[in-house]
Amino acid sequence: MRIEFLGSGGATTTPRPGCHCRICDEARERGVPYARSGPSIFVHGPDLLIDTPEEINLQLNRSGIDRIAGCIYSHWHPDHTMGRRVWETRNVDLRGWPPEPRRTNIYLPEQVASDFRERLGLQEHFDFMTKQGTVQVIELRDGVALELDGVEIMPFRLAEDYVYAFLLVEDGIRVLVAPDELHGWSPDQAPVSLDDLDLAILPMGVTEFDVFTGERLIDPEHRVLNLEMTFNETLDVVRSLGARQTILAHIEEMEQLSFDDLRELERTLHRDGMNVTFAWDTMTVDVPG
Ligand SMILES: [Zn+2]
Ligand SMILES: [Zn+2]
Repeated sequence: MRIEFLGSGGATTTPRPGCHCRICDEARERGVPYARSGPSIFVHGPDLLIDTPEEINLQLNRSGIDRIAGCIYSHWHPDHTMGRRVWETRNVDLRGWPPEPRRTNIYLPEQVASDFRERLGLQEHFDFMTKQGTVQVIELRDGVALELDGVEIMPFRLAEDYVYAFLLVEDGIRVLVAPDELHGWSPDQAPVSLDDLDLAILPMGVTEFDVFTGERLIDPEHRVLNLEMTFNETLDVVRSLGARQTILAHIEEMEQLSFDDLRELERTLHRDGMNVTFAWDTMTVDVPG
């Protein structure tokens, strides 16, 4: 199984327009891997796309991805859905008569489908593209796996139960993809066994403390700590999952950690016996069976 990080950023991508912090200026000057676009992952083989941030159009072109068997959405949040017009851009036929658009299957886990009806005009836009013939929306039921090209994809809810993670299984290869929102979650809550993972992909979480000095960065009263899992809590999840390899993504500009800082942090984690890598845009990983 080959997994590609089309975008490794979070809700605040790097560089942020108008920001001249050290991280943003460096990203402007040096590009990838210092620059980070919105959260999106592509699974080569089943050719499954997970989430469409604003930059998805550019991300697909940059990575040279042609075939997309389907796209599954993890949750309704704008940083994961606002590139949804890509289906029109990619598939519409505005010249042929009768029009012969391409059509992409859009898989919505049960709660995501329900939230699409309430949030951000998502349902309305997907209805528009359905009429246009550029998408086909397929609603999934909790507890039922999707199968694409020999890969079983099981969506399941996290503790923030409007958000889904995915267990991907192919010929004994087992990969967990959790794009975002781990707050309050621990692996023993999963309705599927997460033992024996070859790879776990998780959001890195919020750095409540400076990762090198331990200095407190966020006031303990700050509401973000009630909404987001912290980086230290994420490391507890990494230890408890015990995957052979872990990749942390959804890296916010607000963390103020450059690509080089994260490399150094990786070395610290490796010394503590943790096989953790921080994702970057276009990073591709082959998961050995
Ligand atoms: Zn997000
Ligand atoms: Zn900045």
